[in-house]
Amino acid sequence: MFTIDAHLDLSMNAMEWNRDLRLFATEINARERARGLTDKPDRGNAVVSFPDLRRGGIGLVVATQIARFVAPDNPLPGWNSPEQAWSQTQAQRHWYRTMEEAGELVQIVDKAGLDAHVARWQQTLATGGDTSRLPIGYILSLEGADSLLTPAHLERAHGSGLRALGPAHYGPGRYAHGTDASAPLNAAGRELLAEMDRLGLILDATHLCDAAFWEALDLFAGPVWASHNNCRALVDHNRQFSDEMIKALVDRGAVIGGALDAWMMVPGWVRGQSTPKDMQCDLEVMLDHLDHVCQVAGNADHIGIGSDLDGAFGREQAPHDLETIADLARLPAMLARRGYSAADIEKVMHGNWLRFLRSAWA
Ligand SMILES: [Zn+2]
Repeated sequence: MFTIDAHLDLSMNAMEWNRDLRLFATEINARERARGLTDKPDRGNAVVSFPDLRRGGIGLVVATQIARFVAPDNPLPGWNSPEQAWSQTQAQRHWYRTMEEAGELVQIVDKAGLDAHVARWQQTLATGGDTSRLPIGYILSLEGADSLLTPAHLERAHGSGLRALGPAHYGPGRYAHGTDASAPLNAAGRELLAEMDRLGLILDATHLCDAAFWEALDLFAGPVWASHNNCRALVDHNRQFSDEMIKALVDRGAVIGGALDAWMMVPGWVRGQSTPKDMQCDLEVMLDHLDHVCQVAGNADHIGIGSDLDGAFGREQAPHDLETIADLARLPAMLARRGYSAADIEKVMHGNWLRFLRSAWA
């Protein structure tokens, strides 16, 4: 089934993990193991690549640019100046362009392009055709706004095709505080939201700390989604959405993407110690989170996939029954076993994201 994944850090993997995503994940992993790389915790555990995406019918993704600025007292990994962070996102943008020139990707920036791309994939899938040569569509999103030197830089980014922005990531941000931090929006953050409204960008509510989340929903008039976010009711952490937040997003017509980072799926995960098998973390757990959103919403119109796979973690911190991202193709049968109707399964796999985008870009 044609599938949309609304959150993948593709360019970060290419430019910081030095992964050639044209190879199968098994080949990427074999290279990393052969070189004995240990510089990242997820070396040799990649699950995302272009051929694996195509194998899974995942023909459209929201792909990020991501680069954090860290002040001297911030222990998180990141760049020491916003200028370096901006330049890193420009390298990432350049890689996406280069992959377009190679025929691997096609950038989607408007409704006409979206409709044409989806029709091409759906026709190929419906006729049992070969998807292995189809370009994967990508919608460019910026995760964390630190790299925007000024709110005015957003117009330049929009000119390069940026269509969604999450102002925050982990920790304190230059525009908004994110996961494990807490503060209301600052003046620059409020200015940024106004600029997003002017340019028609989608606000990604993912990672906003609670104070910034509520303020942003009040201030921002445009379309809001949460590309990769699970439920606080199932795993109690500030990174997750409370039922109240889910309700507010549903009222705004948002779609929330279920994420496959194990620590956000099962309670009690200890980084670097817990294993997906021991914690019984499998794909069914993701459906528990999606199902919870449906119970709060009263329907299946507000859920989708935002896997975040290979988002600085790999198989060591992902569902144990997932070998590569192509395994997302097993979700329709799993949803059917839970009693989801055929129409609702299509909504989860692509329909809700498409409805959202067509309305946002109408
Ligand atoms: Zn994230």
